[in-house]
This record gives sequence, C-alpha cells and structure tokens, in this order.
Amino acid sequence: MSDDCLTLSWWNWQGEDLQLPDDDIDLNDALQLTSVVVDQIRVCRFNDARSLIEERKDIVRLICLKELRERGEVTLPKLDLTRQQKMSALAAYLTIDQENSSPCQQCLSRRSRGPCVECVAGDETLFNGACTNRQFSSSAAACSLYKGEISDERR
Ligand SMILES: [Zn+2]
Repeated sequence: MSDDCLTLSWWNWQGEDLQLPDDDIDLNDALQLTSVVVDQIRVCRFNDARSLIEERKDIVRLICLKELRERGEVTLPKLDLTRQQKMSALAAYLTIDQENSSPCQQCLSRRSRGPCVECVAGDETLFNGACTNRQFSSSAAACSLYKGEISDERR
C-alpha cells in the first residue's frame, strides 16, 4: 500500500482507530457515521477534500446529524457524498479548529437543514469564513460568518 492511500485506521477518535461498522450503518451513531464518511473521503477523487482530512490523524468532532421535522415526521438530512463541495465541507468539519464562538444565523434558524447539529467555521482562508454546514449546502455566501465579497448581481 502506498503512502497516498491511507487506510481508515490511520485516523482515530479519542485514541480509538476508526473502523467500518460490521452491519448496516446506524445514522444516529455519530462514530459509525463519521467512520463511513472518512472512509469515503479518503478515497474520493477530490484533492481538496482529501488533503483537508489528511492533515489530521485525530478527528476533532463527530458528524452528528440534525434532526429535521417534515410533516410531523423526524428525518435526518441526506449526505450526498458524490459532490466535491459536500466532501470538502465534511472533511473540514471533521478536522478544523473552530474559530466561531457562536453559530451562524442560518444554523440558528428553525429552517436550517444542517446537515450537522454543530455550526463550525474556520478562519477566512477556508470557505471565506463560512461555516461547513453552509458550504455543504451550497450557500456559503449567505452564511452570517462569510467574509468574502458578495456579488451585487444576486441582490
Ligand atoms: Zn452555520
């Protein structure tokens, strides 16, 4: 195995190596879900997502999905792990030092669809300061923590 293909057990959570669940994944089990996502990111074709996650062996937080209520039913957001933006947002969520001390306005909103419970934003070199939830949802520029330029055309 070459160095550019790290095995899942290279990463750990609080000293325990990550491993894939034996059975079907339980989306409410944050450690299982995180392990599956890391396993997908480590082999994905998006360099930015891979390099984000390869910077850190110790996962700093687990993916805890936000519960959504639709027509009285509780559902969990879907993580579409085929898009570059979503992969890099999750890779950042798992590994960055949190710079924001409080959640952004969008994550606080009752209409927020997560996907994660926690609103985590890095410094402005990452997604222009937008939180990883908003980056995931293709709405980074609408994040109240966003520090990039907002184009006039969209007003
Ligand atoms: Zn947020």
